[in-house]
Amino acid sequence: MTTPPFPAELLDACISCGYCLPACPTYQLTKDEASSPRGRINLMKAINLRRIEIDNPVAKEQASFCLGCRACEPVCPAGVQYGSLLEQWRSHAWQGGGPTVFALTTAVRWPVLLRTAGAITRPAKHRAESEYQYLLGCFERLLYAKLSKAMTDVFPQLDINPNQGCCGALHAHNGHPETGARLAHELGDRLDGTIVTTAGGCAAHLAEILGRDRVRELSEWIIDDGALGLDTLRPIEIDGRPARISIQDSCHLRNGLGVSAQIRTIVQRLGDLVELPSAGVCCGAAGTYSILRKQDANAVFRSRLDEIAQLQPDYVAVVNPGCYRQVATQLRRSRHAPRVVHLVELIAAALHT
Ligand code: SF4
Ligand code: SF4
Repeated sequence: MTTPPFPAELLDACISCGYCLPACPTYQLTKDEASSPRGRINLMKAINLRRIEIDNPVAKEQASFCLGCRACEPVCPAGVQYGSLLEQWRSHAWQGGGPTVFALTTAVRWPVLLRTAGAITRPAKHRAESEYQYLLGCFERLLYAKLSKAMTDVFPQLDINPNQGCCGALHAHNGHPETGARLAHELGDRLDGTIVTTAGGCAAHLAEILGRDRVRELSEWIIDDGALGLDTLRPIEIDGRPARISIQDSCHLRNGLGVSAQIRTIVQRLGDLVELPSAGVCCGAAGTYSILRKQDANAVFRSRLDEIAQLQPDYVAVVNPGCYRQVATQLRRSRHAPRVVHLVELIAAALHT
């Protein structure tokens, strides 16, 4: 008799209370129980009990439709570890395969290394000179060299190891948790000391594998560790008034690491915080989700278009390069498009005004 794919204690933690349903973006789209966290857990239970096969079409679709945003975790009174269950589910359901997923993650990683090796990475100092190592995430290297430039302008104390790989988050979220863990360990060995990152998703994955004390995301590094005094920042003005700044949270940063207040503290120093009601809801980027399930990613983002049209911020600040791409792409079509920037770009602008 083969071992059931999911640890029973993780599944049994769910008491079927349904508190997670209002927090789940896919349930909000469909109002279908199967698209909710509770519904998905029940599908996993049915697989464990062999009532359905792991490749049952409904189960497979739900494993894929889930954003992996983990918004169901902080609201769960029973402490269900949904993110861990989802990684195991995808590992079993997409076993060995996902050439599409591997092709995507590889496609994201390699051009990045080639394109930016000379542009961003400067000669690494002797490692012992700085305890802070800057992690250049894959999306950042591929698409947002300006973000890395702002980061190194603001924090010259950061070391940059030019031989960085992928942290493995995309692999872990796409059915290859062992590869995801191996890549994280290898990266942790290369970047000794504290790893600082502008990517909320990478921060959450690395913290889970390497330990919380090894990893600092930008906003927590500034606020919790005092990496930058807020009194060094001058508020950004537009036409003589404070800039109106909204935020798009990073799901894994907010729901996995509990970091969201720090971002708001910084933004309040930079201008007027214009809180979008959907700021904490997944934007649809979700790793490779916006590439693999474009229509669903568009639908998840849609509620923000009305909010932005109504509140008219000057900027939407993101804290994860994957969200940067998704929010900028979505707002390109909007008539009321604010500028999409990474938080560190605003900080760099505030230092120089
Ligand atoms: S909130 Fe937690 S315990 Fe309640 S149904 Fe959702 S996952 Fe299960
Ligand atoms: S991870 Fe996000 S999309 Fe998936 S069940 Fe939880 S709240 Fe819903």
